[in-house]
Amino acid sequence: MLRNGDGQRQCDGHPPLKHQVNINSFVREAAKSLQMNEVGVCNISTQTPIAFDAYTDNRATGNFIIVDRVTNATVGAGLIDFPLRRADNVHWHALEVNKVARSAMKNQLPAVLWFTGLSGSGKSTIANELDRILHAQGKHTYLLDGDNVRHGLNRDLGFTEEDRVENIRRVAEVAKLMADAGLIVLVSFISPFRDERRMARELMEEGEFIEIFVDTPIEECARRDPKGLYEKALAGKIANFTGVSSPYETPENPELHIRTVGHEPTDLALAVEEFLDRRMEGK
Ligand code: ADP
Repeated sequence: MLRNGDGQRQCDGHPPLKHQVNINSFVREAAKSLQMNEVGVCNISTQTPIAFDAYTDNRATGNFIIVDRVTNATVGAGLIDFPLRRADNVHWHALEVNKVARSAMKNQLPAVLWFTGLSGSGKSTIANELDRILHAQGKHTYLLDGDNVRHGLNRDLGFTEEDRVENIRRVAEVAKLMADAGLIVLVSFISPFRDERRMARELMEEGEFIEIFVDTPIEECARRDPKGLYEKALAGKIANFTGVSSPYETPENPELHIRTVGHEPTDLALAVEEFLDRRMEGK
């Protein structure tokens, strides 16, 4: 695969680069990523199946380009050697006890409530409160908290662009499995980029992903500073801190837009609960 743009990127979050190919000597060299115009060999997995051939069998259907869906820039090009048998042999089992059966038994509609907003905006506080309310009503829920997940499942990930994407991908996949188990999943995650939230949305069934924008002005978040992070970030001690040294892209079309200033967390949690009630009634 030829790397065309600047910066580095991995395929689908895994470190798939097997080796780099020295374009002068054709010697294989160890590398973790490719810089502009470098060539390497890697495994690629796609979200949906695609038809292709080996490049040696058919040049037209054996090559590809990779386009950045945001900028539309071509960021790489490649030739396909062969399909991986491993991928061929992994089949999705159609299970007898399916999502409909699991959620019907729980008397609820599965959902992924995706709380996004600045650090300190109130995502965890509201999600916790909502979790408590739903639990008290006999609903089956689970709360995935960005910070907590980083202690376990995602503890191998840092804050580079690749790691952030992989972080979100794993959380979204876990949320999807939980929704498949019929649960109402509450995800509290800064998730500052529209693209990564869209990626999470696209994983879920139509209508199942509920984006909740927890909207608090950054000045108020910095004033609350529940974890002391703004103080550090504003002193330049934390790189890539959302809202300070890294952007937060506000949701354009969230299912729910919650402004926290002047409201109690419980009232805001109840507003989300009402939304879920209406959804359950099909309104
Ligand atoms: P996040 O999960 O978005 O990083 P937290 O929920 O951890 O944010 O922290 C938000 C802080 O703001 C908490 O200390 C909370 O008590 C406080 N807070 C004040 N007003 C509100 C409100 N209306 N909604 C949510 N949190 C609020």
